[in-house]
Amino acid sequence: MEKLNTYRAGPDAEGRFGKFGGRFVAETLTPLVLDLAKEYEAAKKDKSFQEELDYYLKHYVGRPSPLYYAERLTDYVRDRAGKGKGAKIYFKRDELNHTGAHKINNCMGQILLARRMGKTRIIAETGAGQHGVASATVCARFGLPCVVYMGATDVERQKPNVFRMKLLGAEVRPVTSGRATLKDAMNEALRDWVTNVEDTFYIIGTAAGPHPYPMLVRDFQSVIGKESKEQMQEAEGRLPDVIMACIGGGSNAIGLFHPYLDDLDVEIIGVEAGGLGLETGEHAASLTGGRPGVLHGNRTYLLQDDDGQIKEAHSISAGLDYPGIGPEHAWLYETGRVSYVSATDKEALEMFQLCAKLEGIIPALEPAHALARAVEKAGEMSRDQILLMNMCGRGDKDVFSVMEMLEG
Ligand SMILES: *Cc1c(COP(=O)(O)O)cnc(C)c1O
Repeated sequence: MEKLNTYRAGPDAEGRFGKFGGRFVAETLTPLVLDLAKEYEAAKKDKSFQEELDYYLKHYVGRPSPLYYAERLTDYVRDRAGKGKGAKIYFKRDELNHTGAHKINNCMGQILLARRMGKTRIIAETGAGQHGVASATVCARFGLPCVVYMGATDVERQKPNVFRMKLLGAEVRPVTSGRATLKDAMNEALRDWVTNVEDTFYIIGTAAGPHPYPMLVRDFQSVIGKESKEQMQEAEGRLPDVIMACIGGGSNAIGLFHPYLDDLDVEIIGVEAGGLGLETGEHAASLTGGRPGVLHGNRTYLLQDDDGQIKEAHSISAGLDYPGIGPEHAWLYETGRVSYVSATDKEALEMFQLCAKLEGIIPALEPAHALARAVEKAGEMSRDQILLMNMCGRGDKDVFSVMEMLEG
């Protein structure tokens, strides 16, 4: 690990985390992202902005989310581990948020910023539909029109979320360019933004995109890590030894990790989607299976073929199959401060069932990936150690597809 005085200083004024991140956008978009960066800096310094955000996080989203000792899962690990082994496993319960995942933390922050900037129209991109639903939700709450770009393939695959968005008053625009999935929806949203500069705010759903998005999404999601530090002190009188989270674009993970980056005694592990196995090429592990390139306005690790074409990601969990990863993770990976591993579709499916049976908590398939590596890691740690995992979403959205997989 590269020893730095702090791992929390980034990004620089150009939005760079080391050689990652930045602002790779068309000339027409440059004034928009510069303006957004300026407005966000002002909002950050304004106490009334933070107070307003705190109010809605508490009364609308349901924060703080509980910190929960997963006692039966811990016992399960201890029964199988060697003598004296088996760390205590805690969950940060972000699956209990309104709309069922961490995404609303970010959407709430961004819509309050949009209102502050006097914007009257919201656009968003979505893959599985979770970010689209969270965006449509905050737009309903504040009475703003919402257009959600969604790949036509995903519109077909994710019908319940398309219906939810419509119910919430949003317009879902199917995107047919490219492979008609998340990557293409994001390109289309960026295009819309350029043509509707005056009144439109673009809510990006993960810690990616051009600067300042990776930073502001991280800041809004950092409520997860901040709360967990206080709650850990209360529960155990100290910080955990290991913290873990799953990674699609990396927003829930950076939200948990960032407040801990300078606590060097805390080991930090991100879990990417290993799909059918890294060796098959059918996965969504951008760090462990990709290489650096530029996509959606920033330099980061991407899944690409030999010609540099972006490859389609594969995962059992629609929320993890983004072919890139937020640039701060790319930097943390190269510095060695955070380690990145992966879990397969099959492992996630097993954990989905195990967690339901042992804890009465049906996890989303995304955190079920983190759980696979967390259970393994806890088994290698000693009994007086503590592992904290972010339970970033609930599995209600996944029960029908899992039922089809298990019962044919
Ligand atoms: C969208 C989603 C993810 C992936 O997004 P990140 O930006 O990596 O957090 C993970 N878990 C759940 C439950 C999601 O809805």
